Amino acid sequence: MWEFTSPRTIVFGDEALEYLREIQGTKAFIVSGKTVHRMGLVDKVSSYLREAGLEVRVFDDVEPEPSVETVKNGAAAMSEFGPDWIVGLGGGSSMDAAKAMWVLYERPDIEVGMINPLERMGLRAKAKMICIPTTSGSGSEATWAAIITDTVENVKMELPSREVVPDIAILDPALPALMPPALTAQAGLDVLTHAIEAYSSPWRNDFSDALAIKATQLVFEYLPRSYSDPKDSEARGKMHNAATMGGLAFSNSQAGAAHSMGHSLGAVFKISHGRCVGLMLPYVMEFSWRSVLDRYVEIARSLGIASNDEEAARELIDRVRALRKEIGEPDSIREAGVEENDFTSRLEDLTDRAMKSALTPICPRIPSGEEYKRLFLGAYSGTRVDF
Ligand SMILES: [Zn+2]
Repeated sequence: MWEFTSPRTIVFGDEALEYLREIQGTKAFIVSGKTVHRMGLVDKVSSYLREAGLEVRVFDDVEPEPSVETVKNGAAAMSEFGPDWIVGLGGGSSMDAAKAMWVLYERPDIEVGMINPLERMGLRAKAKMICIPTTSGSGSEATWAAIITDTVENVKMELPSREVVPDIAILDPALPALMPPALTAQAGLDVLTHAIEAYSSPWRNDFSDALAIKATQLVFEYLPRSYSDPKDSEARGKMHNAATMGGLAFSNSQAGAAHSMGHSLGAVFKISHGRCVGLMLPYVMEFSWRSVLDRYVEIARSLGIASNDEEAARELIDRVRALRKEIGEPDSIREAGVEENDFTSRLEDLTDRAMKSALTPICPRIPSGEEYKRLFLGAYSGTRVDF
C-alpha cells in the first residue's frame, strides 16, 4: 500500500498571495525571518489576513538552519496567542520552523526530536497551516519533513510526519523575484536534486515520477533564465512551481546520497543546503548510474537527449554540471571555499554524519563508509567518480 500526501490546496500564479483575503478564521500566527520581514513581505501578508478579519501576530526570529531553541520559543509565543492558522513565510528554514512549532503548539507534551512517521500527533485540533515560500527551492510548502538543527550536538534532524504537510501552499512568483541571483541558483539546484533523486529512489512511484520529470524539465529550461534576469516573470513562475513539484516528488518518494552528503557538508562547513546538494549531485549520479541506468536514461530522453543508453546517462550528468556552471555555482568543495586542512581534518566527521543519515539505507546504490569518504574526496578536488 502506498500513500501520496500533498497540501489540500495549492494556489499559484500572479497575485496568488491575494488568496489570503479569503481565509476564514480568527487569529493567524506568522512565522518568518528578519530578512523577509525587512523586504516588506510580512507586512503584506499581515495586511491581507487582516482584510480577511483575522488578528495577526508575527514571530520573525527564525534563523537560517533553525534550532530547537527557536522552535521552542516560537511555540511558546504561539501558545500564548492561540492562533487557528499558522503561516510559514520564507524559505525552507521558516517553513520548517513553523511546522515544528505547530507540532509543539498542538502537542505541548512531546519534544521536537520525537516527531516521526509512526507518532500519531493529532494535529489540526487547534490550527491549520499555510506555507508561503519566498524562494524557489526547498519545496517545504509541500513536504512532510522539517529540518531542525540540534545546536548542542550540531546535527540536523530530519523530522518526518505526514501530518505536517501544510493545508494550503501559496506560490506567488512575485516573492522569489526578490531573491538575489546566488540564492536563485542555490535554491534551483536544490529543486533539481530533489527531482532527480526522487525519480531514481527505490521508493519512487507513478505519482512522484510524473512530478519529478516535469520539475526536472522546468529547471533545465527556466533556471538559467530566472538566474540571469530576475525580472523574467515567466521563468520565475515556472521555477516557483517546479520547486513545489520537486518537493511533492521527493516527499512522496525519497531523496538520496546528494542529500545525505549535502546535509553533512552543510552542518560541518556552514554552506547553504542548495549549494551543498547541487555540489554533490553529479558525483552521486556518477556513483549511482549503473544501478539506475534506466531511470537516468528516461530523464535524459525527457530532456531531448537521444544518444544510446550509457552515453545518454553520461550526457545527463554533463548537463547537470553545465547548468551548475552556467549559474555560477562551484564544481568542488574546494571551489566552495573550504581549506584543504579543514576538509581533511573533518573528513571522518563528514563521512560519519552521512553514514548516520536516514537516507543512506534507501539510496539506489548504498554507499559504504569507505565509498562516502571517496565521494567526499572526489567532490573536494573536483575529480570524476569512477568506482
Ligand atoms: Zn533539498
